[in-house]
Amino acid sequence: MRSDGGTVAEAFGEGRRKKWRLNHSPLFLDFLEGKRDFECTPWGIPSYSLLGWQQPCYLLADGYAKSWQELLDTTDWDAFGRGKDPRCANCMAHCGYEPSAVLATMGSLRESIRAAVAS
Ligand code: SF4
Repeated sequence: MRSDGGTVAEAFGEGRRKKWRLNHSPLFLDFLEGKRDFECTPWGIPSYSLLGWQQPCYLLADGYAKSWQELLDTTDWDAFGRGKDPRCANCMAHCGYEPSAVLATMGSLRESIRAAVAS
């Protein structure tokens, strides 16, 4: 249920994709429509600010690393995502799932062609 009372299915339901003004990969849009499922890839779109590299993603602020190497070395990447951290339970954010979709696209000739045609 969304905060405005509508459901995610109503927003991202069948046949509504052409009305979206989103610039995402086809597999990530499939994910938003509930047609595909992915694990979160929290390191895929890192966030940097005056405080440093945010751990593990820009939605959660468990800490800040001073360098990219420190971010990689001190973040327990396997501890995040649905079923791992309760804060991730309902997350479908692009910062975690678009990288997963892109990795799946790159691993499939069919999906790579689909993404090239869609762009
Ligand atoms: S599931 Fe969402 S909140 Fe959790 S690490 Fe991934 S992107 Fe961040």
